[in-house]
Amino acid sequence: MITHLFRGQRRYLERGKRMKKIIEVENLTKTYQELKAVDNLSFFVEEGEILGLLGPNGSGKSTTINCLLSLLHYDRGRIRIFGQDMTPDAYEIKKQIGVVFQDVAVFEELTVRDNIDYFCGLYIKEKALRKQYVQEAVELTGLEEFVKFYPKQLSGGLLRRLNIACGIAHRPRLIFLDEPTVAVDPQSRNSILDGIRVLRERGATVVYTTHYMEEVEQLCDRIIILDRGKIIAEGTNEELKELTGIEEKVTVELKKIEDRQVEAIRGLEHVKEVTRSRNLLTIIYGEGTNNFGKLLAFLEQESVRYDKIYSERPTLNDVFLELTGKELRD
Ligand code: ADP
Ligand code: MG
Repeated sequence: MITHLFRGQRRYLERGKRMKKIIEVENLTKTYQELKAVDNLSFFVEEGEILGLLGPNGSGKSTTINCLLSLLHYDRGRIRIFGQDMTPDAYEIKKQIGVVFQDVAVFEELTVRDNIDYFCGLYIKEKALRKQYVQEAVELTGLEEFVKFYPKQLSGGLLRRLNIACGIAHRPRLIFLDEPTVAVDPQSRNSILDGIRVLRERGATVVYTTHYMEEVEQLCDRIIILDRGKIIAEGTNEELKELTGIEEKVTVELKKIEDRQVEAIRGLEHVKEVTRSRNLLTIIYGEGTNNFGKLLAFLEQESVRYDKIYSERPTLNDVFLELTGKELRD
């Protein structure tokens, strides 16, 4: 197991010198009685990126966001947004921020369009402009057919999309989304992820929290992995996967194999580890190209019989497992 607390720190420092930083967090700590919900976090968010905060439930994602927004008092640390200190009365900063909270918060007595118009109206007073922004938000979240619906008529996924539309309609420069896809259907999830990519294309910077590793893999330019309030790793998807030391993982669902053949596989080029449990043989490669092809040729030559065989790249779950000894999955 890797013992360093914060892998990727050198890259992080190098990159930090180059890009414009929209958020800078230094030594942020927030405790609840004995519990360190956020434990000495330091990180930055660059302009125009989608930063993923990935961590299991209770790892401190929402607490971090609420501190960044000055909604919570924190024990220690410094938070700068757009180059200025973030404080509860930093209204110039707050005007340029959009927030989509984990819990849906909309008005039951207003239609979809009126809800979006209300939240947009907190920032945009001019009517014609607001109409345009509201329409943009409707299209971005794919709610065109539902603008006259009331929240209680919407499915869970559509309600989440409305929550997002309300948070981003005023075209904020910086957007926080806290677990916006929990318990939504796959169609809404894809629509939400696509919408977030569009927001980035339009120049927004996005901070996205989730406990779904597949989402950060698909969506985020850079990922910070949290566990128990601490940053345990930071980097791009590829950089994080390098931390596992795994290049490729091949699984064979065996029909029959002899022990000497398993031993021979252990001896193949670039093979780092071979494990066998019942009918599953797992072969881990640390490096190399065409490992899968060479293994297939070997199995063919040895007449090893199997049902299925597949090759995978390491996942962020493998990264989490390597760093914490635990599964990221629920
Ligand atoms: P996440 O968003 O990653 O699921 P949270 O930031 O909500 O995690 O919570 C981090 C930790 O802080 C958890 O252990 C949670 O139980 C605790 N916590 C959050 N809010 C409070 C609170 N108001 N009082 C006491 N403990 C809290
Ligand atoms: Mg949370």
